[in-house]
Amino acid sequence: MRLAWVLAGVACIAIVAATALVARSMFFEDLRERTEAALALYSAGLEGRLEKYRLLAPIIARRTDVVTRFQNPVVGAGDRMAGEIARMSGADDVAFVDPTGAVFARGGRLNEGVLSATDRDLRPHVLAALEGRLGRHHAYDATTGKRNYFFAAPVRRARRVLGAVVVRVGLEVVEQDWALSKNAIIAVDPAGVVFLSNRRHWRLSRFTDSSARAESALIKIPSRFGAQGTVRLKFGDDPVGPSVMEVDRRLPLLGWTLYTFADTSIALSRTISAATIAALISLIGLIGLWISRERLRSERLVAIRLERRVRARTRELIVANRKMAREVEERRAAEEELKTTQAELIQSAKLATIGQMSATLSHEFNQPLASIQSYAENAEALIDHGRTDEARENMSRIGGLVARLGKLNRNLKAFARKPGTGASSVAVKAVLDESLNLVSAQAKRAGVTIEVVGDDMVVIAGPLRLSQVLVNLIGNAVDACAEQASAQVAVALDCEDGYGRIRVSDNGPGIKDDALARLFEPFFTTKTSAKGLGLGLSIADKIVREFGGRLEAANRDGGGAVFTVTLKLADAESLAEAAE
Ligand code: ADP
Repeated sequence: MRLAWVLAGVACIAIVAATALVARSMFFEDLRERTEAALALYSAGLEGRLEKYRLLAPIIARRTDVVTRFQNPVVGAGDRMAGEIARMSGADDVAFVDPTGAVFARGGRLNEGVLSATDRDLRPHVLAALEGRLGRHHAYDATTGKRNYFFAAPVRRARRVLGAVVVRVGLEVVEQDWALSKNAIIAVDPAGVVFLSNRRHWRLSRFTDSSARAESALIKIPSRFGAQGTVRLKFGDDPVGPSVMEVDRRLPLLGWTLYTFADTSIALSRTISAATIAALISLIGLIGLWISRERLRSERLVAIRLERRVRARTRELIVANRKMAREVEERRAAEEELKTTQAELIQSAKLATIGQMSATLSHEFNQPLASIQSYAENAEALIDHGRTDEARENMSRIGGLVARLGKLNRNLKAFARKPGTGASSVAVKAVLDESLNLVSAQAKRAGVTIEVVGDDMVVIAGPLRLSQVLVNLIGNAVDACAEQASAQVAVALDCEDGYGRIRVSDNGPGIKDDALARLFEPFFTTKTSAKGLGLGLSIADKIVREFGGRLEAANRDGGGAVFTVTLKLADAESLAEAAE
């Protein structure tokens, strides 16, 4: 990560450096272009001014009146003519020189660079003209302090040089034009002398780029970074000037070089501004990078913390889950045990019922057995007496009794069997017949008649458990009305709204209010311990609820109790299954 920051820092520095370089080259290039344009104007101004006078001398030299004057060079005789020519051309001075170099006429502003009459002028431009060439020369006049440019042309007659016309032009006026420029301008002659400049004290100094100390020399020192043509100038003992851009231009007409030194401070400050802006943008970028990195880090921290919490929570959940699974397993085992216990309870209650019925059942078995025995003995005697038809009749009675005993035995065995736990479609009539078969002996002994009314119906139940419920309800009804004069139990079947009802009613004493509330409690009984355990109704209630039905007890208006078993009727599909 640290490496990334170093790289980002290096990238920023590179951006700033590149911006500075590009901006610098751009601004300096712009400055150079503008300076070059200004220099072109200055040089055009200077050359234009001198060009005008360059042709003036040869033109004057050809004038016939001038040539006539040269044929007879009387001192002072041509002064008026020279003065007039100077005035009309705008030249500062015009002088006529004879072949010996003696000035015989002069005009113009006078005393400013042109020698006085009778003086001999043997300066280079005059000598060149006397030799028949056009002469020109620039010179500083120490007496007047003027810097002049001279043009000289030979005056000929029949190929003979009679003398020379000299025209003087003062150059100060050019510097006046330059005075407006804030940049330094110098015109350097071939000897390396600053002949013209808008810096007064630089005038007539030597312009050199050597480091040799020179009094009143203008020294050019290469700029420290040397780029973009910048230099620093030092004049005499003055301190070294600031870095400036040097732009030069050759003036072929004069053989001079014109220099201007442009102020680079604005270009530099613009470059610095551009670099500063780039640095600021880079800094903002770095800060942005840092902020986003910090945000990323804090988000990652949050995520790690969250992950830890999730992991801890998951561990807790796993432990809780295991605990819950253990508890579920324990509860399931307990329920299983409870179910077994309850099933066993139902079974014991049932066996108890059989026990209670045993007296009547033994009578039920003994009585047919006794009849069978007497029928058999009678049959023997009848056969002995050859009354075989009667004997056969006895045999068939014996057969009937055996069949009845067999049926009773089958019902009893079925009743004693352990019931299943599911519920399916059960036709009520068949179950009711078996139940009645079991309680009929008890009813007969107690002198109770049992009446069944209503049509068969198919309900959702288990046949054995339903039989247990009916045996219990009918048995209780028989017990309740046994004492009555005409004891009667009725079992009525009917259907309503998808439910089938089996109503067991009696004409006994009914149920007392306090007993009514506790009827379905286990071990609630009003009978003696020999006759009742108090489990019958609680188990019957439980069984009926297992079938999805309900068991209700009530007293009848006309006396006696009524117990109603309500069960769901089987739908058409289940009915078809039951029929199979
Ligand atoms: P048990 O018959 O062993 O007493 P049950 O749970 O079958 O146990 O009956 C509980 C009690 O409900 C009986 O002791 C009796 O008092 C009352 N009971 C049941 N059926 C009737 C009825 N048809 N008429 C009056 N009382 C009844």
